[in-house]
Amino acid sequence: MTLHCDEARLLAQAELDDELDAGRAAELAAHAANCKDCAQLRQDLSGLSGRLRALPYHRAPDALRARLASNLTPPATAPRRRWLGTGTGFAAGFALAAALAAFAILPRGAPDMTSQLVNAHLRSLQAEHLVDVRASDQHQVKPWFTGRLDYAPPVREPAGYTLLGGRLDVLEGRPVAALAYRSMQHTINLYVLPGDRGPETSSQQSGFNLLRWQQDGMTLWAVSDVSLEGLRSFARAWNQTP
Ligand SMILES: [Zn+2]
Repeated sequence: MTLHCDEARLLAQAELDDELDAGRAAELAAHAANCKDCAQLRQDLSGLSGRLRALPYHRAPDALRARLASNLTPPATAPRRRWLGTGTGFAAGFALAAALAAFAILPRGAPDMTSQLVNAHLRSLQAEHLVDVRASDQHQVKPWFTGRLDYAPPVREPAGYTLLGGRLDVLEGRPVAALAYRSMQHTINLYVLPGDRGPETSSQQSGFNLLRWQQDGMTLWAVSDVSLEGLRSFARAWNQTP
């Protein structure tokens, strides 16, 4: 029973929530003992969770509490039947608590592109929603995007990589094309966005590598647990494929 890294990542997240039974926990531990990347991810996750728990609690400013409370209070002209009053009061109190909790929890500003990409990659693996359209060859995937996007993403199948299919994903609030590839036991998600975003860059987050490059007026963004060198080979192969 060998775990793939994709499964180990999911188990590592379940482990944080105490959702693993003894058997699965043992499988994860055995995998992490032999896989540096997954061991690191496990460590990063537990560090992050500890830091989140240690965050101080901030009381919302009085002005905000007052404004939320007044928005949630029914107008004075509302019918004042007793049962309705009680219900609304409870609902308003609950809504106020929820609004304050959201205020306390939500990070400032939208997550940066690297986080959005890693989240999208994780979503695709977790929800088993890797592809909307399955590929037996690239000619089935390209037309599928027509009418779903306001640009035509190039779809290629470089030698040595299996194109699993395509799907729509959302980045920076807009639908984009995502192509899923298999390389050995690894999954590579390739996000294809219109426009030029400058020279090649790479980054790393939560144990995933990200590589961004340009071709033919498109921005290509590969996200995977494949090494950065591996992603560069993928990019080269992709660029050379007609
Ligand atoms: Zn692994």
